[in-house]
Amino acid sequence: MIMKKAEDEKQLLGIRESKLIYSNLEISYEMMRSRRKSIAIAIAVGGKVTIKIPTNAREQEVLHFLQERSSWIYDSYKEQIQREKRGIHIEDGGKIPFLSEEVTVRILPNLNKVDAKIRYIEEQKQLIIETPKLWPAFLRECVESWYKKNAKSIIPFRVEQVAKVMQLTYGRITIRSQKSRWGSCSSEGNLNFNWHLIMMPPAILDYVIIHELAHRVEMNHSKQFWAIVEQACPDYKQRRLWLKEHGSSYEFLDT
Ligand SMILES: [Zn+2]
Repeated sequence: MIMKKAEDEKQLLGIRESKLIYSNLEISYEMMRSRRKSIAIAIAVGGKVTIKIPTNAREQEVLHFLQERSSWIYDSYKEQIQREKRGIHIEDGGKIPFLSEEVTVRILPNLNKVDAKIRYIEEQKQLIIETPKLWPAFLRECVESWYKKNAKSIIPFRVEQVAKVMQLTYGRITIRSQKSRWGSCSSEGNLNFNWHLIMMPPAILDYVIIHELAHRVEMNHSKQFWAIVEQACPDYKQRRLWLKEHGSSYEFLDT
């Protein structure tokens, strides 16, 4: 099973969390010791601020550094949040992610229709929604149904290919929209995947498939389990991290 959050891992890594407060903004950051020679600040997806400090750095030195860089942190943080506010937003001419592609949404109002008609033009990477209604919630449903339809055909196909390579069997596959999970595997071998995965790069979808299939051998997250994952996916750590950092930006924005 892959939960969206893994808070317990932070403690294992000895990461300290704290907050920087600027006039009107509270920025939380994580500080970790590393083999670096100097202090480094990184602002990642979600505005996550990470400060890497040399193993022998003194607290005072670090605080002084943070003080000195405060306006830089403040500006970069705000910029990052701004850049990401996107989530998935549906509007005419807007782009939505689909595996490694970017698909342009075209909304064509057509009052003669009772329901929306959705078609995808592969060559132009255009998703055309001919619709009598223009409410954001309705358009969102249209796009969601298109994603789900694709998830239901692409994910089982990919599972079949990956399972062959890993020489594993499985039961039924269901595609769901659970809030907290990317995938799961039952003791009977039934697999369940979150349709949002279809929006992400194929390498990420593959990682989740490999992860769930590996549970066919180990129903836990033991060393043996990760060894099976690694065998099928040597760079699984990067993919896993990517999912943790970027996964939440693949939500639809409520308008
Ligand atoms: Zn798992």
